[in-house]
Amino acid sequence: MSQAPLVFGAPDIQADDIAQVLAVLQSGWLGTGPRVAAFEAQFAAFKGVDPRQVVAVNSGTAALHLSLLAAGISPGDEVITSPLTFCATVNVILHVGATPVLADVDADTMNLSATSVAARITPRTRAVLPVHFAGRPCEMDALLALTRARNLVVVEDCAHAIEARWREQPTGTLGDFGCFSFYATKNVTTGEGGMVIARDVAHAQRMRRLSLHGVDRDAWKRFSADGYPHYDVTDCGFKFNMMDLQAAIGQHQLARVQANSLRRQAIWQQYQAAFAGLPLTCPAQPDAHTVHARHLYTLLVDEARCGVSRDVFLARMLGQGIGVGVHYRAIPEHSYYQQSLGWQPADTPVATAIGRQTVSLPLGPGMGDADVQRVMAGVRQALEMT
Ligand SMILES: *Cc1c(COP(=O)(O)O)cnc(C)c1O
Repeated sequence: MSQAPLVFGAPDIQADDIAQVLAVLQSGWLGTGPRVAAFEAQFAAFKGVDPRQVVAVNSGTAALHLSLLAAGISPGDEVITSPLTFCATVNVILHVGATPVLADVDADTMNLSATSVAARITPRTRAVLPVHFAGRPCEMDALLALTRARNLVVVEDCAHAIEARWREQPTGTLGDFGCFSFYATKNVTTGEGGMVIARDVAHAQRMRRLSLHGVDRDAWKRFSADGYPHYDVTDCGFKFNMMDLQAAIGQHQLARVQANSLRRQAIWQQYQAAFAGLPLTCPAQPDAHTVHARHLYTLLVDEARCGVSRDVFLARMLGQGIGVGVHYRAIPEHSYYQQSLGWQPADTPVATAIGRQTVSLPLGPGMGDADVQRVMAGVRQALEMT
C-alpha cells in the first residue's frame, strides 16, 4: 500500500489557529484592525524592539519593497544582494528603479560573502541586502564593518530566519531594516503575510502610510464624535496592508515558534547524522555564537560523487512520495535577468554551482519520527545505496 505523500513545507496549523480565524470571521471586522495591532506588538516583544518600529504587511516582498522606499533608494542607486535567493529579493530593487548588483556567496555558509560584496562596491552603491539563507545568520560582523565604513543602508531579508540570532541579537535588528515573510512554507505563517522592522521609527511610520495607499491612518478612524472623518492621501502608496484574518493566525503561530524550533533542530541533527557517511555534502553546522532558524535542510548532490544527477535525485524522491524543493537555482540562471540585465550564471560561480546541486528535504514541526525515517530511507534509495 503506498503512503500518503509527504508535503514539502507543509504548514503547522492547529485547532488554535482555526478557532481564531472563525472568531475573526464572526467579529465582522476582517480588515486591518485590532488583531494586526496586537500581532505587531507581539512580534515587537519577540524581537525586543519598540512596537512603533514594526509594521505588518501582506508579504515579505512588500516588506522589502517598502524598506527600500523608506531608505530613499531610487534610480541611479546600486543595491548589492545575494544570487542565492528567491527572485523577490532582486525584483524589489528593480521595482524602486534602482540597479541590483549580485555579489557571490560563501561555499560553506551559502550566505553573502563580505569579500565579494566589498569587490562590488562602487560610488553608486547605496545599500546591501543580505539574505539569512536557510535560517543561518549571515556573517554580520564583516558585513556591518563594510557598510558602516561607507554609510550604506542594510536591509536584512529574514524570510528564512524569523527566530535566528547573531551574537544574541535577533535577526532583523542588526541592519537598518529587517524583512520577514509569513508565506505558507515559512517557520511562522499567516498564509500570505509579512512584517518589517525599522531601526528608525520615522521610517516605520512612512512604511505604515505607504502600506495603505499613502493614507494617514491617524485619520483612518471610522467613528468619531466630531463628525465624518475625511482622510488625507499624503503619499502615493500601495495596497500592502495585512488583514486581521491573517494576524489572528500569526498570533498563535508566533506563540509556538520556540517549541517548533526545537523540533526543527532535532530533525536537522538527525539528518546530519544519517547522511554523514553518504557521498553528499551536508549543510555546515551553525556557528556557536548564533541561533540558526533551521528553515531549510539542504543537501548538495554532485553527480560526479553520487553517480546520480540532482534532477534525477529530485525525481526519485518525488517518485517515493517525498516532497522536495530547490533553494535556489542562482538568480542569473533565469531568462528575465539574462535578457534584461545581461547576467550570466558564470558571474556568480559559487551560487550557480550550489543552485545546480541543491535539494531541500522536508523539515517541519509537524513531522513525526516515522516521517523523518521515511525521508532518511528515501535519500538512500534515491542514491541506490540501500
Ligand atoms: C519567501 C521569501 C521572500 C518573499 O516573501 P513573500 O512573503 O512570499 O513575499 C523573499 N525572500 C526570501 C529569501 C524568501 O524565502
